[in-house]
Amino acid sequence: IRTGVHPHEFTEANIARMTEQMRRAGWGYDWSRELATSHPDYYRWTQWLFLRFLEKGLAFKKTAPVNWCPSCQTVLANEQVKDGGCERCGTQVEQRDMDQWFFRMSAYAQRLLDNHARLEGKWPEAVLKLQKEWIGRSEGARVEFEVAETGDPVPVFTTRPDTLWGVTFMSLAPEHPLVEKLVRGTEHEERVMAAVREMRAAGTSEKDLAEREKVGVFTGFHVINPVNGEKVPLWVANFALMTYGTGAVMAVPAHDQRDFEFARKYGIPIKVVIEPREGRLDPETMTEAYVDPGVMVASGPFDGRLNTEAMGDVISWLEEHGHGRREINYKLRDWLISRQRYWGAPIPIVYCDACGVVPVPEEELPVLLPTDVQFHEGGGNPLATSESFVHTSCPSCGGPARRETDTMDTFVDSSWYFLRYCDPHNDRAPFGEAALRHWMPVDQYIGGIEHATMHLIYARFFTMVLHDLGLLDFDEPFDRLFCQGMVCKTAYYCPEHKYLREDEVIDGRREGDVIVDGKCAHCGTPVESEMTKISKSKFNIVDPDAMMDRFG
Ligand SMILES: [Zn+2]
Ligand SMILES: [Zn+2]
Ligand SMILES: [Zn+2]
Repeated sequence: IRTGVHPHEFTEANIARMTEQMRRAGWGYDWSRELATSHPDYYRWTQWLFLRFLEKGLAFKKTAPVNWCPSCQTVLANEQVKDGGCERCGTQVEQRDMDQWFFRMSAYAQRLLDNHARLEGKWPEAVLKLQKEWIGRSEGARVEFEVAETGDPVPVFTTRPDTLWGVTFMSLAPEHPLVEKLVRGTEHEERVMAAVREMRAAGTSEKDLAEREKVGVFTGFHVINPVNGEKVPLWVANFALMTYGTGAVMAVPAHDQRDFEFARKYGIPIKVVIEPREGRLDPETMTEAYVDPGVMVASGPFDGRLNTEAMGDVISWLEEHGHGRREINYKLRDWLISRQRYWGAPIPIVYCDACGVVPVPEEELPVLLPTDVQFHEGGGNPLATSESFVHTSCPSCGGPARRETDTMDTFVDSSWYFLRYCDPHNDRAPFGEAALRHWMPVDQYIGGIEHATMHLIYARFFTMVLHDLGLLDFDEPFDRLFCQGMVCKTAYYCPEHKYLREDEVIDGRREGDVIVDGKCAHCGTPVESEMTKISKSKFNIVDPDAMMDRFG
């Protein structure tokens, strides 16, 4: 849209240019194995693999709150939201409810962690650490609260069952379905829903929330704490995440700093249930939460126990009394693969009024990207504008049907390209067994650390699934990993026109390689500059042709 050039021409021209640059630089590649993930003879197999995932229940469709970039007019995976902004264009990301395709990556969370043992010493520690945090395993308990006024169950997940007796309020995520159900038609509806709308508009990605001011609204309802029968207020708060745990968070202000600040701000009581061994805590005068180990008090059968030692017993007690059970939670979410973009592999699905969701039969692959599409700014999904693409017949009953117009996240393409390199011209299968046996797994992989929680997790997940489908006899793709450094250069940004090329920055002065106090050539606004990894989308790349002309 920006350049008015069709993505096909644009991609082919770039491939030709970069190939020439690589040859000129003398890089030793086996060019007979060259492939492009945007060519039908490649994405045919990406679609074929999608169908295998579908058969195994590992590809599925659901309505979910998703990250939406209003500028790119498409959804983004959690991994593609950086500091609350779109990874591609920097625009503030919004939350929307949409029907989307996912890969069931959460089912592989534990295995992605367990296999780290085999990568230790061969992968950079920093990458394993980033993945571990991203997968975010935590052990704890699921505890069954219920709404005092209506009896609706409100399960919570907590890693601190030892503090259950100190719960003084509970928070629901703004998207939690119970919020609307409870307040609808009550005196609280207007006030609560107005606050909820405001919280939702601000977005609820995890990174955002770490920095954002914690706000909430009292629903007018209460929940009963099953361990002591206490009735505590039920709030909606912007720090409760629908995508983590159950979307409801129990709050123990005396022993959690975030809850403490929230309670002080809104005048919610604070109840101490863990005391230091020496001295007493006074909820009236505490200036911060007490988070160190200590002795349990006001905690029924556990009074006098060390909280760190009682944790397991508390969970057993919950189970015995039917108040909850042991549970492990992961932050890792299912992988949202639907994109409302033109340039990607079409998802091989057809919708028929009579048969419902029908996979495109293998022998009809590839589902080709149509060429008669219209692109315009803010125009939504370009594929939906192609009549010849959308209207088709049902593979099952032959009746009229509509094609899925979402394409796959391009990270799907790159999750298996290394397998195709082993056998790039195979037209009967994505890859042949003998070729894989010879080449795979990759002995030495090289890439930037920015791939730690994206490509390197996706590719590991893909390899595990293909292993489980019987297509591979190994389940880790890369034996050794080396992260080279990142080359950084100043990028220029106009709030209105996004990232700018250097020749779009005017009226500045040069200090070495940097333009200082420049303005946007389109609107005259002073540009912001940042030192960041060179990337095509930020227009801060160094042209190798110019370098080779100069230095040979
Ligand atoms: Zn965007
Ligand atoms: Zn049909
Ligand atoms: Zn501008």
